Amino acid sequence: MIDEPGLEPNARTNSTGYTSDRGAFSPSCQSAGDCEPILQSALAGNRISSADALALALHADEDSLFTTANEIRKKLHPDSIVTYVVDRNINYSNICTSVCSFCAFYRKPGDPEGYVLSLDEIHEKVDETIALGGSGTLMQGGLHPELPLSWYTEMLRSIKDKHPSFYLHCFSPTEIHAFTTVTGLDCEQILEQLKNAGLDSIPGGGGEILVDAIRKRRRSSCSTNEWLEVSASAHRLGIPTTATMMIGLGEETWMRAEHLERIREVQDQTGGFISFIPWTFQPDNTALGRKISERVPAREYSRWLAVSRIFLDNIQNLQVSWLTVGMEEGRLGLQRGANDLGSVMIEENVISVAGANHTATEKLLRDTIEKSGFRPGLRNAGYRRLPDRPVPVTTGEEIA
Ligand code: SF4
Repeated sequence: MIDEPGLEPNARTNSTGYTSDRGAFSPSCQSAGDCEPILQSALAGNRISSADALALALHADEDSLFTTANEIRKKLHPDSIVTYVVDRNINYSNICTSVCSFCAFYRKPGDPEGYVLSLDEIHEKVDETIALGGSGTLMQGGLHPELPLSWYTEMLRSIKDKHPSFYLHCFSPTEIHAFTTVTGLDCEQILEQLKNAGLDSIPGGGGEILVDAIRKRRRSSCSTNEWLEVSASAHRLGIPTTATMMIGLGEETWMRAEHLERIREVQDQTGGFISFIPWTFQPDNTALGRKISERVPAREYSRWLAVSRIFLDNIQNLQVSWLTVGMEEGRLGLQRGANDLGSVMIEENVISVAGANHTATEKLLRDTIEKSGFRPGLRNAGYRRLPDRPVPVTTGEEIA
């Protein structure tokens, strides 16, 4: 089980009127000047608190904040390589029993627009990905109420039988938690069966903001502890996962710092998070978008990207989300703590339908990395480096 630490010493009354796991807290200081010792301490290798993280995000001088995050990235990645992956998101189904208010992808069971891809369709996408030079797939769907576990295991097994080295980065902790409801099996049993069928790692979708007060308001489908427990269980079984944070859901800023703290605590226990990926809420076509139509400003995203690098001293990789903030901000993020530019995304259906209309080619990712003064490094979804190829195979434009 995930340890349940007590309240922070500076915990105070929650200003939202909702009860959080630990209670709202204040930044540890209130001025840019007072943030400087925190930055210097972090640069010296000391761990900062969540109250410090909140102070840095709100008050630190921007140059100092970005420079510190960049210096910490250099220490973690002295080879000047920025990694990226060529893969494809396969969304096997959009049928979902949840109704997360920030989601534009799901269709309720019975909706005429609901679909489940056939095995042939999935194999066609896998074959096409390989032909385009992709190394694997990030596979996610809605929370389907009826598909048995054998549907997933047989699908994974059939892909691995045909393409043993094709990397399977599949099923968010939220989906795996839903599998327990559909099957009656516990989380470890499900993870073991998926691993035996060929699952390589798990994407960190559904993390959103790991504070139950906001998760309940946004109708997230599992609780903070449930999401973290699936991740930790996967780690204990030797399945690496990524962790994400989606900002801009109307959460209070302290909740973002608490989210980082929850991730860091699990990582201290398991060491299984291979990357952290913050991104921004995309409001188009979502229920929440009718209340919150503004996107998080790029500068604010960058500050939390840098704070993530400084705070998460136990997670090796930090990915900047060009898909949600655009390639220029993605490029700038490489100077603000990020060492990974994510995926070419030969296909993406979930975030793009909510308004993230940025696209990339492998050449564009490599050029962006080089223009930022780094060397591009091809990897798979498990953050394992792959042999570089000087001429990109994939343009990313082959599939509209
Ligand atoms: S975010 Fe995932 S779980 Fe929530 S409604 Fe969308 S598909 Fe379903």
